[in-house]
Amino acid sequence: MIGLISATAAGAAASERLAAAWPDRVRVYEGPVGPSVQRAFGECTQLVCFLATGATVRLLAPLLADKASDPGVVCVDEAGRFAVSLVGGHGGGANALAHEVAEVLGAQPVVTTATDAVGIPGLDTLGLPVEGDVAGVSRAVLDGERVELAADFAWPLPALPPQVRGGDAARADDAAQPGTQGAGGSEAAPTPPAGARIRVTDRALEPAVREAVLRPPSLVVGVGASKGAPVDEVLDVIGAALADAGLSPRSVARLATVDAKAEEPGIVEAAARLGVPLVTYSSERLAAVDVPNPSDAPLAAVGTPSVAEAAALAEGGELLVPKRKSAPEGRAAMATCAVVRRAPRGRLAVVGLGPGARDLVTPRAKDELRRAAVLVGLDQYVDQIRDLLRPGTVILESGLGAEEERARTAVAEARKGQAVALIGSGDAGVYAMASPALAEASDDIDVVGVPGVTAALAAGALLGAPLGHDHVSISLSDLHTPWEVIERRVRAAAEADLVVTFYNPRSRGRDWQLPKALAMLAEHRAPRTPVGVVRNASRADESVRLTTLAALDPATVDMMTVVTVGNTATREIAGRMVTPRGYRWQQDPDTVAAEAVEAQR
Ligand code: SAH
Repeated sequence: MIGLISATAAGAAASERLAAAWPDRVRVYEGPVGPSVQRAFGECTQLVCFLATGATVRLLAPLLADKASDPGVVCVDEAGRFAVSLVGGHGGGANALAHEVAEVLGAQPVVTTATDAVGIPGLDTLGLPVEGDVAGVSRAVLDGERVELAADFAWPLPALPPQVRGGDAARADDAAQPGTQGAGGSEAAPTPPAGARIRVTDRALEPAVREAVLRPPSLVVGVGASKGAPVDEVLDVIGAALADAGLSPRSVARLATVDAKAEEPGIVEAAARLGVPLVTYSSERLAAVDVPNPSDAPLAAVGTPSVAEAAALAEGGELLVPKRKSAPEGRAAMATCAVVRRAPRGRLAVVGLGPGARDLVTPRAKDELRRAAVLVGLDQYVDQIRDLLRPGTVILESGLGAEEERARTAVAEARKGQAVALIGSGDAGVYAMASPALAEASDDIDVVGVPGVTAALAAGALLGAPLGHDHVSISLSDLHTPWEVIERRVRAAAEADLVVTFYNPRSRGRDWQLPKALAMLAEHRAPRTPVGVVRNASRADESVRLTTLAALDPATVDMMTVVTVGNTATREIAGRMVTPRGYRWQQDPDTVAAEAVEAQR
């Protein structure tokens, strides 16, 4: 329950808004604030005080006992501008509550807890289970202490600050520092033992002092079960297999079995209790997997000589525990399992940054940037978002023209098991990096695309509604596409009466293509057809011009520009470019053709 305490009319009004938004979560305390805070502190798990921070601190001070058990407290100022996480940021959930309150009230959340405020990932926010001295090691990271990163294998982690480094690399770097050489100058001085350590492992070890253990989802457990096998028996055989092999159940990524067992209650329930998905494969697919212990029983029952081993190995990996049977007392075994360590899969996020303005970068794009350990992109785009990256992100930037190389680099980094973000302006799939990257990528990495606002849409919004009916984008760059092909497409768009947005319309060395393309459209569209010329959409020196096919001066167009040509129905209405949604308003095509002929005389 969240206790709400207010003193003034404005505070009471804001408190009512929260109460209306969360009717089942809050309790409103009325009367003098001192006793209210005291009662709420004892009765609630969280408090929102519509009071100054100073007043709240004085009221709370005598009540505070221990950050593990005290309620989290958020303060909201009189004007409702800020929701301040005051105490219990993590344990009391005040940081999260501050965000929630801010959302409801349209306020700004204020969070001052160290890891959150400086954008360093708390170890518990990396998306992996973590054990051990999480607070102590997070603290060490935050204090800039060198923290050793000991990973049993590469796993796509988000960026960690530079002071978190692999043991060998760290030692080599230290040895290279001036002044750390031994007396004779030929031997490196012994490295002082690293204090804190982050371990990345699926082995079932107890975290040492000042050690946090991250559990990558690296294990796949193949299971087989006879009809009606009890869930406990399935869980027992899995538990025993993991324990005997010294593996942590928290690294289990999924259970796997044959299609015929997709509904087997013992298996379905075991997956649910372990909190992992169940994947199934056809018996043909499993029969084709090479396994060490095939047998006749499953072949007869479900049509594959192996279920547990084959399902565990279906996506490749290293067999750590060959098939073993359950050992129920007094009857025959009904469950089998096998454990595989899958190869680490890198992650390639192809992220569109939008046309330029920060508020046109989608929240999902921001999340992906913060999730990456390696960022690959054109230098000028990297500059656009550098401040959004987590400290420690490795940035591989290159200049114009190095597209192929960037694509190869991004894929190669992902193949090493890294979390990589490959960025592009607008949408990264539109005349941009997604195609060369995915042409290069094989199925051994995960690929995630994040759509961005492409230039045609950014320009469309500035011009009015030019894309209200069927439209097409055409790049006029003949660097990679023969001009004949471009010309054929422009002609087809002209004949099909499509609204056309020209990307890459004109550069210093490429100046005849745009007039030529416009002339082709003019054969089918009236001279007064609206044309929008948008330069640097959503950037500092944005310019928007509305002109016509006849009046457009190509010299005003450059590579920062898109040119949107209306169809025969597009009109200028109140200074805006509007393409009607239906053909009902469309002019008689004969009139249009006649106008076009006239214009050419
Ligand atoms: N992936 C990008 C397009 C890359 S091609 C996107 O989806 O927007 C480069 C061309 O895009 C430029 O020559 C220009 O024609 C257009 N362009 C990109 N950003 C633009 C912007 N902010 N304003 C106007 N045109 C832009």
